[in-house]
Amino acid sequence: MRQSDCYFGAFFNALPGRSGETQGSEALMTYKETFWMACDTIEHNRAEYGPFNSRLEAELEARKLGFPYLLRYEHEVADNDEIQDVRVVFIELPDAGEVEKPSPVRLYTRCATCGEAASHDKSWQAEVWADIHEFEHCRHLVRLFEQTRSDGLKEVVGWRQG
Ligand SMILES: [Zn+2]
Repeated sequence: MRQSDCYFGAFFNALPGRSGETQGSEALMTYKETFWMACDTIEHNRAEYGPFNSRLEAELEARKLGFPYLLRYEHEVADNDEIQDVRVVFIELPDAGEVEKPSPVRLYTRCATCGEAASHDKSWQAEVWADIHEFEHCRHLVRLFEQTRSDGLKEVVGWRQG
């Protein structure tokens, strides 16, 4: 649902050097054959894995491999089984790079007294860090900052009074 189909592809001949043999192909009946590959990059030297009959299979495999793209190949095949044309569509999997990040917000604790700092994924981790720090260092005051991609670093005021 969230995938945006990015179209970078173009029509090109499947088998370089055969383009001269397509004279008369207008007379041939063609049918379309579609299959899917997982790939690691849209560069020419990409690694491709597959083929798969369905997008779902390819996507599952891509996620497993950590590949951020799918390729949809559309072969136009003549009734003599010769591939007439190939269309390749790259589809980016938008979440692929974000699997490692459990939260869009990153939390930073920094002691206003001594300057010791740490970063955390979860707010309870920040609280534990502050508890320990303030326990070990009498009268130190730990401040909490949230970092989001859109707003940058922002102090959470009064976070320990809740
Ligand atoms: Zn301190």
